[in-house]
Amino acid sequence: MKNIAIIGAGITGLSLAYNLRGNNITIFDKSWRPGGRVSTRKNDELLFDHGAHYLSKNHKVKQLKNLLDSLDIVNEKIINFSTNYLKKDFIKKTILIGKNGMNSIPRKIFDNLKIKSYFNSKIISIEKNNETYSLITETENYINFDLVLVCVPFLQAKELTNKFIDFNLKHEPKYEPIYTVMLSYEESNNINIDGGLNLHNDISFFMKQNFKFPNLKDECWVLNLSSDFTFKNLDINNKILEEKVISIFERSFSLNQKPKFQNTHRWLYAQTKISYNSLSKKNWIGSKDSKIFLSGDWVMGRSISDAWNAGLQLSHYLNILL
Ligand SMILES: Cc1cc2nc3c(=O)[nH]c(=O)nc-3n(C[C@H](O)[C@H](O)[C@H](O)COP(=O)(O)OP(=O)(O)OC[C@H]3O[C@@H](n4cnc5c(N)ncnc54)[C@H](O)[C@@H]3O)c2cc1C
Repeated sequence: MKNIAIIGAGITGLSLAYNLRGNNITIFDKSWRPGGRVSTRKNDELLFDHGAHYLSKNHKVKQLKNLLDSLDIVNEKIINFSTNYLKKDFIKKTILIGKNGMNSIPRKIFDNLKIKSYFNSKIISIEKNNETYSLITETENYINFDLVLVCVPFLQAKELTNKFIDFNLKHEPKYEPIYTVMLSYEESNNINIDGGLNLHNDISFFMKQNFKFPNLKDECWVLNLSSDFTFKNLDINNKILEEKVISIFERSFSLNQKPKFQNTHRWLYAQTKISYNSLSKKNWIGSKDSKIFLSGDWVMGRSISDAWNAGLQLSHYLNILL
């Protein structure tokens, strides 16, 4: 049985923890909870899935499908969706959502794993001591790991491990940033679609939250700014950004009320444009001594199922190695 440290309790880290169970696993996350970008924001009575919105019904990762079914943690929903609002293209779309918000998916997977965990623990350095590794936070030193699996966005993973790994600069995955604006309205706006793409040139995605959280009293929406807009306006004042989004939303659906609540989140590393696998044909990055490995949604693609698959692919290799 090996001592394995996993840095990052997002979907990739949870996939590795699940697939390597049987070893002595410790998972670390700088946040207070598992799930990473699969995030549900609560504000008093309001709820918003302001990271990942849904899982594609037709994703190809069978293991994840089976696990979600066996834990009974997703609902299937058929929603009215616009594949391009500017062109007025509408469809019925079948999606999978967490039974209690998207973050309930990673939370339940994590609870079920029953592994040792340290939250609110940002790893700032990895050190080698003879044959084992230690992980350092601002206040603690965790020792004696045979294997360290780094499951954080690529640029942060590179910073943490560049003294152990020669990175190939030709194959660097690039991230796109996304601003997310959350709005709530006291009265119904009588909008007859649940979400869609391209509400406006600068708003790439919008989704109503009420079909996810039927007990919500207010009408809640999440709107994502396009990555182009976000990139060009990384330091925009939140209030100015929210006013822009509110005014586009009002014009698009002829609204006659102002939001009761508004808030913004900036995802600096939201999604990768081109995956590492498509650049390099490789499924992970490893150190020369095969003791430190990097994985994440930047490896196979940009979705929850891709992140799970990235962990799964690396675990196949590690299960042979161990
Ligand atoms: C706005 C937005 C919308 C999206 N929409 C969808 C969607 O609708 N459907 C879909 O399938 N996917 C969607 N995605 C993508 C999906 O959320 C990601 O692909 C997936 O969650 C990535 O998982 P991960 O484990 O690779 O990374 P992350 O979720 O980023 O997990 C990394 C974890 O590492 C932790 N961490 C980072 N640095 C450190 C450190 N130094 N020490 C300790 N911990 C650290 C972080 O706190 C985080 O918990 C969306 C993403 C965003 C941002």
